[in-house]
Order: sequence, then C-alpha cells, then structure tokens
Amino acid sequence: MLSNSLVELDRQHLIHPLASPRGHERSGVRVLASAKGATLTDGEGHRLLDGFAGLWCVNAGYGHESVVEAAAEQMRRLPYATGYFDMGSEPAIRLAAELAERAPGDLDHVYFTLGGSDAVDSTIRFIRYYNHARGTPQKDQFISLAQGFHGSSTAGAGLTALPGFHFGFGVPFDWQHKISSHYVYRNPVGQDPAAIIAASVAELRAKVEELGAERVAAFYAEPIQGSGGVLVPPAGWMKAMAEACREMDILFVADEVITAFGRTGPLFASEDEGIVPDFITVAKGLTSGYAPLGAVLMADHVYQAIADGAGEALIGHGYTYSGHPVSAAVGLAVLRLYEDGGLLENGRKAGARLMAGLHGLSDHPLVGDVRGRGMLAAIELVTDKAAKTPLPAAAEASRRIFDRAYRAGLIVRAFANGAIGFAPPLCCTPEEIDEMVARTLRVLDETLDDPDVRSAM
Ligand code: PMP
Repeated sequence: MLSNSLVELDRQHLIHPLASPRGHERSGVRVLASAKGATLTDGEGHRLLDGFAGLWCVNAGYGHESVVEAAAEQMRRLPYATGYFDMGSEPAIRLAAELAERAPGDLDHVYFTLGGSDAVDSTIRFIRYYNHARGTPQKDQFISLAQGFHGSSTAGAGLTALPGFHFGFGVPFDWQHKISSHYVYRNPVGQDPAAIIAASVAELRAKVEELGAERVAAFYAEPIQGSGGVLVPPAGWMKAMAEACREMDILFVADEVITAFGRTGPLFASEDEGIVPDFITVAKGLTSGYAPLGAVLMADHVYQAIADGAGEALIGHGYTYSGHPVSAAVGLAVLRLYEDGGLLENGRKAGARLMAGLHGLSDHPLVGDVRGRGMLAAIELVTDKAAKTPLPAAAEASRRIFDRAYRAGLIVRAFANGAIGFAPPLCCTPEEIDEMVARTLRVLDETLDDPDVRSAM
C-alpha cells in the first residue's frame, strides 16, 4: 500500500511536468509502482492497461530483461564517457552507426541529446550554423504548423503551436512563424485529401513569399501531429511539403520524436511516404523510455557544409550527457527487440487491430472522428456529430475522461480538444488491444452520462 507520507512529500516538494500546481496539490499524486508488458501497477495495487506507453515512449513494453542487463553491464564497465576532447564510448558509436544504416537516404550523421526537446533545439542551432557556414546567415526564419508540438525548450516551445506552452513564457520569438495544420476532420477546405495537400502547400508558399525565400531557413512538421491531438495528414502530404521546401531551398525537418521506432509501422514514419528529410529528430522509442536519450539525424549535405564552414574551429554545441554510454547501450538493446524480437511486426498487427476496434466505436453518439496509423490513434468526441461541436468545458472534460479511464483500468491521453489518444506498447497481444477498446467504450458511456455533456446535447 502507498503510504500517505509519500503523497504528502510529493505535494510539498515535487514540481510535476505539465501540471497545474494548485490542481495537483488538491488531487495528489498517483504513484506508479511497477510494470510488465503493457500492464502498470500503481501504489494502491490497481492494475492498468497502458494504452499510452508511458508518454508514447515505452514502445517495447515494460520488463525486458535484455535491456536491464545491457544497462547494468554498461554501468559496471563504464557508466560515463564524455564525447568532448575527441573521446567517446563504444555504445554511442555503434548506436550512431546503426541509426545511420537504417535511416532514410543520406541521413548518415547522428548527434545525441537527452530527449526530444534538446534534439529539436539542436536542429535550430545546427540550421543557423549551417546557414552561416554556407554564407546565407540571413536565412534565419523558421516555420512550423498550427497544433504542432516540438518540445519544451525555449526555442522549441516557440516552434510548438499549443497556446499553453507559450502563455507566460515570452515565446514564440519573432523569427518563428506558423501555418495552418492539415487537421483533416476540421479543415476549412473540407476532407478531400488532394484539396488539403494543395491548401497546405499553397499556404507554405505564401508564407515563404511573405517572409522572402532568402530569409527562410527551415520548415518543421511531425509525420503525425501527436500532442496536437493525433492529427494524421492525408497520404502524400509530407512528400508534397518536403518537395516544396526543396524547391524553395528550405530545410525540411521531420520531428519523429513520437512517430519513429515502429509507432506507425516502420522504424521511421518518413519511410511511409518515401521521403528523405534534411533532419529527423528522435527520442522516446529510441530507448523505449528505459533511459533518457534523443538524437538528431543529419543529412550528409548539411553535415558537409557545417564541417567545411567550421574548418578547424570547435562548434560550440555540446551537452555533458551527449551520447551517454548507458542510454546508448539501452538504445542498442531496444533496437534488437524491435527487429530481432519481432516487435515491429507485432506492432503492425496490433495497430491494425486497434484501428479496427476504434472504428467499431464510430456509431457511439459521442464519437465524431476516428483517426490514426499503426499504434498511434485518436477518437475525437463531440456532442453533435453533424455540427462537430466539441465537448463543453474541454479542459475539465479531458480531466474527467482521464479519471474515468483510470477507474476502468486504462491509461489514455485525454486531450484538451476532447480527443482521446492511444499509443500502446508494440508488444500488445490481441486480447490486450480488445480489452483497451472495451474499456474505452465504458469511458464513452460514462461520459455520455455526465450531466454537463448531456445538457450540451
Ligand atoms: N517533439 C515531439 C514531436 C514530441 O512529441 C515531443 C514530446 N512529446 C518532443 C519533441 C519533446 O520531447 P521530450 O519531452 O523528450 O523533450
């Protein structure tokens, strides 16, 4: 049993990420105690199916001894090695090589970070450096998408387009610009894929024209927008945007922090569209959450320009824990699970079952939209399907939905826009997927009984 003193210590001392301090003081912490496969156990002994893989990161699932052993062995042998002073460690070098070998096209160069935010931040620094190096320093404007999420660093939060990450923080900066998302369900041009792609390309071109192509450095997009509510672009959207960027001499950054490592099927979601971005950022599934690690994958032409520009000078960008050997050893062990352990394959089958199961909920009076690809999905709740009316008091509604799911023994992401997000571990069995869908139906039925929802219908 969880001791009350732990809840009290948390209340007094631990600042939680993405939390309302006063709300958290009221609700208190739910301590997670242990996990195996796709099942979490909390401090009160409740068992929960993890439909969100932690924070869309535990792609391999919990409790893999091979990963634990790899970390322990590396800790015994060499717990730390800096990458400074031309030094390094075997796991970091091997993991960089394995990523380069698997990444699309000429994304042959890897810079390790501690997670996704500093991976995005590093791309901003490298892109600025690149433009200095090749004599185009005036290319210093950055474009990203509405509903996009690119992390919580100061510069990354400015590329992020969720108002909660800006409010009170003095971002975005004046060199950070947004264009509309593809958001198929609520796109003003309708739901025709070709029309949505054409509208996005036209808006990108118009924004570049407004800023001046000679000033625009890069465009950022997630292959599927995650934190914005699991927004899936029409097939061909990423490719069309990447091609438009190339034509205008703008670097294309695919932020794959969520989508890489089997989340949508292949190792990188960029493969779904056959594109080769100039940068890919990864984190989360890279170690499946067993240790913190992120990476920037950089195209050869960018690397060569940066290296030529720097000459013998040091590039002043480095973290103490870049290429941490324990995290890298974990990354190598997790890669084995995805490939040799059959997890990518299992994830593809489980993803198809999840999508079919969620589509089976389409007739529920609250379900306005079902969307997703692979093991990344969402259902968007509305009180009027024809008018697509969002649930009332969306923030409070999302809190209630999370609590209902928790009581039903399921962890999901309840978004402020009234969408429920799913990103289960790739190891899920068919029975676990079916159970997640069944518990979701219970959540929907309870939500339908909520007097605030009833009165809005
Ligand atoms: N980019 C994307 C697309 C993300 O989803 C996230 C995290 N959810 C980040 C960047 C930031 O990663 P981290 O939380 O590891 O810093």
